[in-house]
Amino acid sequence: MSTVFSKIIRREIPAHIIAEDDNYIAFLDINPLSKGHTLVVPKMEIDYIFDLPQDILPGLFAFAQKVAKAIDKYSDAERIGIAVIGLEVPHAHVHLVPINGLFDIDFSKPKLMLNPEELDEITEKIRSYL
Ligand code: AMP
Repeated sequence: MSTVFSKIIRREIPAHIIAEDDNYIAFLDINPLSKGHTLVVPKMEIDYIFDLPQDILPGLFAFAQKVAKAIDKYSDAERIGIAVIGLEVPHAHVHLVPINGLFDIDFSKPKLMLNPEELDEITEKIRSYL
């Protein structure tokens, strides 16, 4: 199923893209839980992460690892949490969220409101650590 994430991949709508290769893309979450909250997405249009082919799923985590290390360098948070939710956008993805405690990765809490300039700055900084 084609979703908003495919539109980002095809550059039909804008996103703050952190990294990309032939099979995966990472971009900032538009409604972040914390500064640096990033989505790592396989380009293949599959809804449920555990339906990804066996040659794509491990690569998603290898790609996420590189991105998480860059976010870690950018962020003052204790570590980068990882979560799979998938209830809103039916295109497999993982969330990478800088966290200092459990409350920082509570998806029911209010999201940060960051302006485009702040998102640009975060993108640039994370990219500089890749
Ligand atoms: P979920 O499917 O429950 O894992 O949540 C999907 C996530 O995608 C949410 O955290 C949204 O804020 C995020 N999201 C939705 N649309 C966009 C977009 N256009 N750009 C970046 N992030 C998005």
